[in-house]
Amino acid sequence: ALGDGDPLLAGLNPEQQEAVTSTAPALAVIAGPGTGKTKTLVSRIAYLISVRKVKPSEITAVTFTNKAAAEMRQRLEQALGGKRALRGMSIGTFHALCLEYLRETGGVTLLDEDGARRHAAAVIQARNLRLTPEAFLRAVSIRKNGGEGDGISDEAFALYCDRLKKSGAADFDDLLADTLAAWQQGLPDARRKNRFRYLLVDEFQDINPIQYRLIRAWAQEGESLFAIGDPDQSIYGFRGADAACFERLQEDWPALCTIHLRQNYRSTPQVLRVALPLISHNPGQARALLPHRPDGAPVGRVVVKTDLSEGIFIAKQIGQMVGGLDMLESGALAAPADRAQGYGFSDFAILYRTHRQAEMLEKCLRQEGIPYVVSGREDDLSSEDVCGVLGFFRFLADPQDALSLTRALKVLFGCPEALSESFAALWEGAGHQMLTPALLEARAAAYLGAAHVGPLIEAAGAFLPRMKKEKPRKLIEELCSACALKKTPALEHLLGRAVFHTDMAAFLDNLALGQEADLERSTGHAYAAGAVRLMTLHGAKGLEFPVVFLCGVKKGMIPLETPYRPADMEEERRLFYVGITRAKDSLYLCTGPEASAFMQEIPAADLKPIRANPNAAQGAQLSLFGKV
Ligand code: ATP
Ligand code: MG
Repeated sequence: ALGDGDPLLAGLNPEQQEAVTSTAPALAVIAGPGTGKTKTLVSRIAYLISVRKVKPSEITAVTFTNKAAAEMRQRLEQALGGKRALRGMSIGTFHALCLEYLRETGGVTLLDEDGARRHAAAVIQARNLRLTPEAFLRAVSIRKNGGEGDGISDEAFALYCDRLKKSGAADFDDLLADTLAAWQQGLPDARRKNRFRYLLVDEFQDINPIQYRLIRAWAQEGESLFAIGDPDQSIYGFRGADAACFERLQEDWPALCTIHLRQNYRSTPQVLRVALPLISHNPGQARALLPHRPDGAPVGRVVVKTDLSEGIFIAKQIGQMVGGLDMLESGALAAPADRAQGYGFSDFAILYRTHRQAEMLEKCLRQEGIPYVVSGREDDLSSEDVCGVLGFFRFLADPQDALSLTRALKVLFGCPEALSESFAALWEGAGHQMLTPALLEARAAAYLGAAHVGPLIEAAGAFLPRMKKEKPRKLIEELCSACALKKTPALEHLLGRAVFHTDMAAFLDNLALGQEADLERSTGHAYAAGAVRLMTLHGAKGLEFPVVFLCGVKKGMIPLETPYRPADMEEERRLFYVGITRAKDSLYLCTGPEASAFMQEIPAADLKPIRANPNAAQGAQLSLFGKV
């Protein structure tokens, strides 16, 4: 009866409708992959705004990545007919929401990874520690999230925190802790509290204890908390996430209403028949995922001898499925009948356990002329030239950011360390006021004579008025040529990434907040629209693709064996399960001569053996790597 006449509810099943329209103060939707949890969350927001007339400024949705936030916003704009209907609503990751709050209420300079590393290095040097900056920062992060953080002393930890405080900067973890502290002290005003009147959280199974405390603080005075997730897809245990958070929710909200969804709308029965027996090897109640779609292609099991032949198989298979070549003969599977057109490149995803696996796959795709985009955390954000360029724009966005200023001076204008530091000191205390040409001039007057600072002032004056108006890519390109920087691969990657953005300040935040699924590099000639997607299993969470290739389903890789810690079999199994359940129409599991132990947990009858052509591999080897 609820759905009658309301187009927002028309396409939803009864349980989904119940979740969308519920007036319970706290509601959990616990359900398997592809059951429409995210769709339900989006529909609920649309319903709250258009039917219940809730103000968008009283709604906050928490997503796991910046990209998921952008997608959600887009879907809502479509459902509600434009941007205006959404004005004032907050959608973002925990970090983005906290950054926004801290910026509004007093200002904060967010340290990026390189900045944090520099502070860590300074402490390491001052205290003569035998640690890398990365190891130091890992220990700091564990401590800030309430863990033991062995490896660094209280004193070293305090020194690091002190340095950050003095420079007015916050690292990634501070964003959450500082926001929580403000809430616990009752600082936020009514308007800010109202923002969380309707709080919705996607991927709830992956929140860590501090994030849980934030939710509790935010939701306390709110009207409705809506948490959706799937404990079987909890894959961030290694970072402190705790799937038991649903149980804590039940304890903290005794009247919690729980809804389960069972219809799977995403995958064919064939895909689900592979996924369910696998995940049933983990303890827990019997899982139910009822297929909604009709039968499709069997799940392929491809045995390849090497990573090279794996890459070649995948590249050729994609080429055939897109090109619509003689599919039956090649063993490729035609698009199902309910798909009117054939496949385009963006219908394919290649998933793997570790970033390192991407390189070979990229080579093979390039060889076949297949456009692709790789999602992933990248090291080249910390390369010298990129740091200098980003430092320059960060400084323009936030004159308090003396560290960025120092970097820009050194890298772009060849300024000696000592001079750049004393110049940077001039800016401390600038507060979080906007940089203006007048401020720039007043502060720089004393230094204008210095050979290295003059050009910086000039460049800053020239770029400042353009920051808000022009696209990041153009600004970066012009800065590079103004400073005669050589286009290194790292700078090229930065430019490639900037293409997806229209606003410099948002781009800088996005880079600093960046999570794995948000960072991308591509072949250069093809951007997201028409490209095959490459990403880790972690990065694929929440996404879906018509055709999925799961790489390296072999011993040592899935579950991943590392020298440092034994594999957490249950978490690795969940990760494999997440990968499998991304597939809509077709799934290929690529195994090596020694298959993953998890393959034995899947009934052989539900897998179709596919042979990769060894001759093709040999020929390609010659052309890929030159003559032997
Ligand atoms: P995951 O756990 O992987 O994040 P999910 O539960 O969030 O999955 P969604 O991504 O919301 O699932 O939905 C999966 C697919 O099913 C989407 O393509 C969505 O549009 C479709 N879908 C969801 N509910 C329905 C429905 N009632 N009718 C038709 N399609 C639906
Ligand atoms: Mg989802």
